[in-house]
Amino acid sequence: MIMNPQMLGAAYLAAGALFILSLNGLSHQESARRGNLCGIIGMIIAVGATILSGSVGNLHIMFPCMIIGGIIGAVVALKVEMTQMPELVAGFHSLVGLAAVLVGFSSYMDPNSQFVGTEKVIHEVEVYLGVFIGIITFTGSIIAFGKLSAIIGGKPLMIPGRHWINLIMLLICIYFGYEFLNAESHDAGVWPLLIMTVIAGIIGIHLIMAIGGADMPVVVSMLNSYSGWAAAATGFMLGNTALIVVGSLVGSSGAILSYIMCRAMNRKFLAVILGGFGTGGGAAAEAEEGEVTATSAEEVASMLKDASEVIIVPGYGMAVAQAQYTVSDITKKLRSKGVNVRFGIHPVAGRLPGHMNVLLAESKVPYDIVLEMDELNDDFPDTDVSLVIGANDIVNPSAQTDPNSPIAGMPVLEVWKAKTCVVLKRSMATGYAGVDNPLFIKDNTEMLFGDAKDSMDEVLKHLD
Ligand code: NDP
Repeated sequence: MIMNPQMLGAAYLAAGALFILSLNGLSHQESARRGNLCGIIGMIIAVGATILSGSVGNLHIMFPCMIIGGIIGAVVALKVEMTQMPELVAGFHSLVGLAAVLVGFSSYMDPNSQFVGTEKVIHEVEVYLGVFIGIITFTGSIIAFGKLSAIIGGKPLMIPGRHWINLIMLLICIYFGYEFLNAESHDAGVWPLLIMTVIAGIIGIHLIMAIGGADMPVVVSMLNSYSGWAAAATGFMLGNTALIVVGSLVGSSGAILSYIMCRAMNRKFLAVILGGFGTGGGAAAEAEEGEVTATSAEEVASMLKDASEVIIVPGYGMAVAQAQYTVSDITKKLRSKGVNVRFGIHPVAGRLPGHMNVLLAESKVPYDIVLEMDELNDDFPDTDVSLVIGANDIVNPSAQTDPNSPIAGMPVLEVWKAKTCVVLKRSMATGYAGVDNPLFIKDNTEMLFGDAKDSMDEVLKHLD
């Protein structure tokens, strides 16, 4: 052992402080790189100190596993497209949950366990809770992965009496918790633990299956929060302060993010996590009929040149097409001609929180013209052209006008209030929530069909 317990405590304290600085840095684009760096250093200190403290046995097994895991992680991170990020995050959350379950079982069955009396009861409560949260995170994240990658349909599974089913399963888990704590031996206790694991696994599947497509952003951040609590529970089981600190930070920041996302989408947090939203209350959404007006890149270019106020609203399609660099060039050119160009960012645009901000920062769009939805939603009536690039649900007026719409009540960017609205997409297909969009048939809307990158390249050519 190279590190004594005091040194280990100091190292964990330093790592904890770095994680807090990391979160702080990640909350602003300008400081995000520094935030990432703090997180990396904090993690190196935490892992290094744990190894040097001698509390880890079997280093000859652990090192090869760390190397193989590290290589897999690096390859996956290098290969993943920005649009697949939510699936990747859901996949990672499932691993945190699975780790909590495995640590829980191994910690309970450890033949060298020294716990007696009250300490033993506390440890067993930690194990039971850790396995419970871990397995819900694991199965829930797998379903979220399936939904985000369209392996499982986005439609919510509405089993009659589903809240009662969840409640009954929860009560069964509590009953087996009692059996677990009163088991006479570890061999007897492992059964209630196993039964609870199966039932809580079903709860995880059922909870996420009942959530509709439009509410998936909340699910991702909520599972992020669960994975944090699962890690914190593992920290308690292992008596590892760093893990408790990291887990609590992830758990609470994920919970705050979920709350912010719910507020942004005008949803009630409890209603989302218990399922039931995104269903449209049973009645069919109204389908509107009308003519679609198609336009050309040349026309769009001349509209933009003649405009004095332009608001660009990017969405998931801009990420798919990787059009952000051309969009940035167009912005530069228009600004040099004296056009006031701003970007309107919806809180759930794209497929992960902050998705659009990352793309625009990557393509060097100045931060001060990238505004939140609430900051410019009232400015559309004074705008000459609103340019919607691969966005759909976040600019759907039926969220305001059709109470039966699955996205009813969700605040949207009011792009149709501009003098002219130009929408770039490839077809008349729906967006993530699968809802028709009456924006496309409004009198002042013109559709520029095609891949957003190709269309933007054409527009740029005609701007000179
Ligand atoms: P949408 O998914 O509603 O719409 C994207 C549109 O982009 C589609 O209608 C598609 O139309 C178009 N598109 C796709 N590829 C291209 C391309 N290459 N070129 C041009 N257009 C393209 O995206 P929004 O950003 O408007 O809304 C986000 C949705 O995702 C919301 O429903 C949100 O709840 C959900 N969500 C958000 C998450 C988050 O954290 N931000 C996480 C999970 C889900 P077409 O096929 O015709 O081209």
